[in-house]
Amino acid sequence: MLDVVVVGGGPCGATAAHDLARAGHAVAFIDKAGRIKPCGGAIPPRLIRDFDIPDEQIVAKINTARMVSPTGRRVDIPIEDGFVGMVDREHFDEFLRVRAAEAGAMRHTGTFLRVERGDGTWVVYRDKASGEEVRLPCRMVIGADGARSNVARQEVPGGREIPYVIAYHEIIAAPGKVGEYDPTRCDVVYDGAISPDFYGWVFPHGAQASVGMGTGKDGVDLKAATAQLREASGLAGCQTIRKEGAPIPLRPLDRWDNGRDIVLAGDAAGVVAPSSGEGIYYAMMGGRVAGLAAAAALEKGPKALKLARKLFMKEHSQVFRVLGAMQNAYYRSDERRERFVSLCHDADVQKLTFEAYMNKALVKARPWAHIKIGAKNLAHLAGIVAPDRV
Ligand SMILES: Cc1cc2nc3c(=O)[nH]c(=O)nc-3n(C[C@H](O)[C@H](O)[C@H](O)COP(=O)(O)OP(=O)(O)OC[C@H]3O[C@@H](n4cnc5c(N)ncnc54)[C@H](O)[C@@H]3O)c2cc1C
Repeated sequence: MLDVVVVGGGPCGATAAHDLARAGHAVAFIDKAGRIKPCGGAIPPRLIRDFDIPDEQIVAKINTARMVSPTGRRVDIPIEDGFVGMVDREHFDEFLRVRAAEAGAMRHTGTFLRVERGDGTWVVYRDKASGEEVRLPCRMVIGADGARSNVARQEVPGGREIPYVIAYHEIIAAPGKVGEYDPTRCDVVYDGAISPDFYGWVFPHGAQASVGMGTGKDGVDLKAATAQLREASGLAGCQTIRKEGAPIPLRPLDRWDNGRDIVLAGDAAGVVAPSSGEGIYYAMMGGRVAGLAAAAALEKGPKALKLARKLFMKEHSQVFRVLGAMQNAYYRSDERRERFVSLCHDADVQKLTFEAYMNKALVKARPWAHIKIGAKNLAHLAGIVAPDRV
């Protein structure tokens, strides 16, 4: 009898399995393997600190973020006091899975099929090597099987209704510094011609780079938009290594547990930051709180599963609210996108946004800066100033 079975061995599931094993629980995780998660791979310093990520996992260190507006205006934001780390998900996820197994979690490779109940709970999966169905008896289950989670769809109310944007990217063999491409800079392109409701990106990964975009609108030609991004950065001629797409959830579920024996986390619970689509940190933090909630439920009963969402939201709901409001306000037209990039000229906007990204906290230290940014924000949203005014 296992204490917990974790479905999924991405950043969320591997973290939950690792933490539970370290705490002395009998835990297993199941991952279907065989696919590299499509991802830009950008992670903040807080993640590197909180989850002890060794330097060899960081394939590039980014010191500037460039915002590009619909009219081609560029605002370079220097990243002070640190860097944005880039990871290669092929190696990063495997590193996390190996670390969880070394901590004592049992690793299974196969595809989750269903949860069965009788006088107990079993997680049933199809083993990759044997092709057989395997039943794992357990007391609690963590659903960390990513966007469009089968655990969420089968077991948790609302789990089928998460809205998504589709993100598409191409992994290319990256040159050194050439044309507009700089291997130490992440470019974020706000342009309706690339994405009518999200953004495009060029993210360096050392020897490779991820170039792509996201959208929730039907009929957008993702490949044509990505070709345009590559062309504009001088990367059109580089070798394409992979072309791939995946959904990014847009809204955390109102419930992460079934009140009995299942709790969700990470993309499976719909948890990705609005505006940026950043999900790796939030998946790992989600895995951590889901592990805590499952451990508490083993001791105190299933009501404790609610702790996962509660703990997570206590720390991150404010940032999610601000980012959600920003996306609603500024991602809706080119005129608004122009105003958004214009705002990024402001040194206080740069500082506060990057502090929030790097350390996952809104800084309250400088009230005047907040008031000034608030006033500029209002002036732009009300159309009182021209889009190109800083
Ligand atoms: C194109 C793109 C770019 C992105 N760029 C960034 C970025 O730069 N920075 C950032 O922070 N976030 C980014 N994200 C978001 C980020 O990738 C996700 O939020 C993050 O991977 C979520 O982690 P997770 O562990 O919850 O889910 P996943 O990483 O999806 O892991 C789920 C795991 O479950 C396994 N699984 C799924 N179904 C089953 C099953 N039936 N049986 C067994 N195993 C199963 C999968 O094999 C996988 O390993 C991006 C997303 C996309 C699509």
